[in-house]
Amino acid sequence: MTESLPRIRILPPTVADRIAAGEVVERPASVVKELIENAIDARAAAIQVEMRDGGLRVLRVSDNGHGIPREDVPLVAEHFATSKIQSAEDLAAIRTLGFRGEALSSIAAVARLELVTRTAGELEGTRLRLLEGKPVVEPAASPVGTSVTVRDLFYNTPARRKFLKSPLREAELVQETVVTYSLAYPSIAFRLIADGRERYAAPPATELERIGLAWGRDVAAEMIPISWEALDLRARGYISRPTVARSRRDAQLFFVNGRPVRAGLLAVMLERPYEGRLPPARRPLAVIHLELDPRWVDVNVHPRKAEIRFAQERSVYGALSRAVEEALSAYPRQEGAATPFWAFPTLAEPALLREEGAEYRSAGGLRALAQLHHSYIVAQTPDGMALIDQHAAHEQILFERLLGSRRSKPLQPPLRLEVTSQEAQRLDSHLPLLAELGIELEPFGSRTFLVRNWPESLPDKEIPAILLALCEELGRVPRSEGELREAVASKLACLSAIKAGDVLSLEAMQGLLDSLEAAWSPATCPHGRPAIITLSLTELERRFGRRQ
Ligand code: ADP
Ligand code: MG
Repeated sequence: MTESLPRIRILPPTVADRIAAGEVVERPASVVKELIENAIDARAAAIQVEMRDGGLRVLRVSDNGHGIPREDVPLVAEHFATSKIQSAEDLAAIRTLGFRGEALSSIAAVARLELVTRTAGELEGTRLRLLEGKPVVEPAASPVGTSVTVRDLFYNTPARRKFLKSPLREAELVQETVVTYSLAYPSIAFRLIADGRERYAAPPATELERIGLAWGRDVAAEMIPISWEALDLRARGYISRPTVARSRRDAQLFFVNGRPVRAGLLAVMLERPYEGRLPPARRPLAVIHLELDPRWVDVNVHPRKAEIRFAQERSVYGALSRAVEEALSAYPRQEGAATPFWAFPTLAEPALLREEGAEYRSAGGLRALAQLHHSYIVAQTPDGMALIDQHAAHEQILFERLLGSRRSKPLQPPLRLEVTSQEAQRLDSHLPLLAELGIELEPFGSRTFLVRNWPESLPDKEIPAILLALCEELGRVPRSEGELREAVASKLACLSAIKAGDVLSLEAMQGLLDSLEAAWSPATCPHGRPAIITLSLTELERRFGRRQ
């Protein structure tokens, strides 16, 4: 058995010199990334990650991969010790995730590292500890596979500790790393335990099932497959229908030959075909694999292997765009003469101008039947029923209108707003952003503003209260301009929307449903909560025992 395993060797200086050098271990999540990659390279079917205190006290990654033969164990924490490449030629066509032989030695330099391993051909396992840099190897009980424990990260480099975030945030970053790899490798089981509690458990699954586990089943239901193949280049995976989107790119994952890579231009190529299908500043969700001959990819450009270079950039980006465009072809673009969603009548306007005889605007028509507990709308759909959260739905409608239109209406007479000096400063420094959303404020003395214009899409009630609440939003941690704009729009939408508990007439409910159907992302509110739950006739028939 042992014979067939790749053996660890120290790379000769001629090869080592050609490897992108630099810091590998930045934070607990980067340790986890390296250890997970080692487990995947060892062809593990199950990988378990455990941590305490965000991984700062203890981090352990265990796998059931092929293990390391005892004779090789003393080498693993040496610099440039690897079983994955041998020569400079190998560097040009890397098929494994690791190749630098630097991860374990870098981790051992800044933490207390212990490794326990056994191969299928061995009766007894092996433990490695490093005492003052010297490897101590002894027999140990172990299942087949490898378990690496990293204690007291950065104990000897206090300066590095200063760059870390809170244990809670570090734990989140570890979780993100685990979830990312779990999405790339759905056939591998992943489990994450934090401070003794299971945080994520992913049994072997299909790609779509894994997406459902990581991002929610309702998201998975809105994902469509993409596939595009050329000679030795393939783009495949899942992208979201234009019915769901997020405000950030955090749910766009790209893997090149199974290796997570920074989105960069790939995100631009993914998003281009969505133009006219998603409202501005909304981001599709995606899990995309690019598979190509490893000779076309240079992974040796970044120490943490987060960036890569393509030899045939244009074909790669082209393949991605074409795959996405093809998958989206069934979803019409809103262009030219098409009515933009923000032009639909708002709730505040008088009754709708309904076309004679046409009860619903769209084929997927929602018909309001009743209000439930002054919070939900019960509606009939062509193939069943729906429950709509009146606040979440209205919030989403207003949010989209705010981002889609700069139109504002003058307030006659202008409204006077008195604020504290801190609030005045916040408003002052964000006047252009507010104007972009349709709120025109004119400084009038040091702590007074005149509200001259208000967004056309919002009812003009409770304006002072809304503006004061906005001041709070503006004072929160600095964010990019786009993020702030969305946060403000989302806050405005939330404050202005119908609340749970508001009594609605049937007509108002129907108006809300019509606007919801015209929305880009009717399924969720800006925070991603569901706005609508549907129940099909088939499901009803099944529940009532009318069909199997
Ligand atoms: P690299 O992955 O770049 O080769 P590492 O420092 O991460 O370098 O690991 C050094 C070597 O130790 C690997 O090449 C591999 O042979 C062995 N190794 C590390 N982790 C594992 C594991 N989980 N299972 C089997 N072998 C491992
Ligand atoms: Mg490695």
